[in-house]
Amino acid sequence: MQKFIVFLLVGLMSSTAADAKKQSKGGDPIVVSPEDLDRSVMSYVEANVLATMYHELGHALIDGLSLPIFSREEDAADTFVVVITDKFFDAEQAEQLTWASADQYARDAEEAEKKGQELAVWSTHSLDLQRYYNLICLYYGGNVQQRDDFAEENGLPSDRAQTCEEERELAETSWGGVLDDIKRTRSGPDWIVLDEDVDTLGNSYVLAAQSVIRREVARLNERFAPDFEVKVVIENCNEENAFYSPGEGKITMCNELSRSYVHD
Ligand SMILES: [Zn+2]
Repeated sequence: MQKFIVFLLVGLMSSTAADAKKQSKGGDPIVVSPEDLDRSVMSYVEANVLATMYHELGHALIDGLSLPIFSREEDAADTFVVVITDKFFDAEQAEQLTWASADQYARDAEEAEKKGQELAVWSTHSLDLQRYYNLICLYYGGNVQQRDDFAEENGLPSDRAQTCEEERELAETSWGGVLDDIKRTRSGPDWIVLDEDVDTLGNSYVLAAQSVIRREVARLNERFAPDFEVKVVIENCNEENAFYSPGEGKITMCNELSRSYVHD
């Protein structure tokens, strides 16, 4: 699976580095230059941070637009990640993003098994490995002719592969229609407002991840303009988490979660 890790950041490292110059709370400047970051590690962190942010944004759209959801909301939010990232990035980048995000679920599943934890069959989320296969399937279903190697390399069983194109078409009809409806047609205020904590746990990858979120929020503001506001807060939470708070229209992206995506 390593071969997919490499490239998302090629065009992004320089802007990430330029952005990633901030004062830490202690007053010492933290400066991240591309040489300080291992490209494949950063690519993995970036992919997972983006996938997580888009998952939470899926929740925000479901809430803000009162979208009808006829099954588990968590699955709908995962589906949104594939639909929007496949539109937002070129094929190579979208593939890396899907793979890295799916791979993180596979790692989580493996770790839980090692610890002897029971499968969380009661959870609002699908099981980690189901989330893995759902992502791989939906991405593959977006172009079954060109992405069959991807499906095979990531172990998608042929029983499931048979329905992926249809599953993706349904996802496109559902989420694609939502994205069409909220397309920005004229200038106006940003619908996503960013609030960043300057502390980054002293971790260069976390700092770079903040830049990734900042860049992505700017792109989302350029392209979409629903008539409600979403706040994205990046902060230390003392837990590895990201979540959407419906009452407040707020996405919280925890720095600890970004740090948890750093695998040497
Ligand atoms: Zn969720």
